[in-house]
Amino acid sequence: MQDENPVSPDAAWHDVTARAAAAARGRPVTVLAVGKTRPAQALRTLAALGQRAFGENYVQEALAKQRELADAGLEWHLIGPLQSNKAREVAEHFDWLQTLDRAKLVEPLARWRPPGTPPLEVLIQVNVDDEASKSGCSPDGVDALADAIAAQPALRLRGLMAIPAPAPDHDTRRRAFARMRDLFDALRDTHAGIDTLSMGMSEDFELAIEEGATLVRIGSLLFGARG
Ligand SMILES: *Cc1c(COP(=O)(O)O)cnc(C)c1O
Repeated sequence: MQDENPVSPDAAWHDVTARAAAAARGRPVTVLAVGKTRPAQALRTLAALGQRAFGENYVQEALAKQRELADAGLEWHLIGPLQSNKAREVAEHFDWLQTLDRAKLVEPLARWRPPGTPPLEVLIQVNVDDEASKSGCSPDGVDALADAIAAQPALRLRGLMAIPAPAPDHDTRRRAFARMRDLFDALRDTHAGIDTLSMGMSEDFELAIEEGATLVRIGSLLFGARG
């Protein structure tokens, strides 16, 4: 619960951003604040400190917060699974979609992106552990999906995202991050504009940055453990 977070939001935010910058050793790295289950007011507190990019898992919850925080000039990322029947709302209301994992969503997203708005920034979610049960495109499918996204002017391919299976040991985690980095480097050979590798959460964000993450998604370290 929020009350059990012994650290003030101010101290937590400065600690996370400083640790991320230190791990990046001068490379740019973005900290995405993951606000799922948190009230809009908690996001506003971080925004006042300078946090700009926010990630949400559920479309309806995100839309309610976007309305409450419309004056704050924030950047919104969908990081939860995308259902086909939500493509329109995502195209209309988000800046980034980090979880595109199948070709059949590409055309609807492009069609619903409102004319006159910037392209929707897109990451391909990769199932880096190749587990049958999880969402994410298989590593073998990344190239075809990337080409489909790149063919749509209303979408802009920015890179890859992964949620590796929770691994008990450090070396297994590191290998999953390194596999993502290899996929990212390979994709950059054919899609020179990509610049974003989204991996790492509260538990392992420094390790992810060491292995090449340019964006880390942080919830509990910023907001306290989820109740
Ligand atoms: C909840 C969530 C996070 C943040 O997790 P923490 O462990 O609270 O930092 C990051 N990425 C995704 C996809 C999530 O669903």
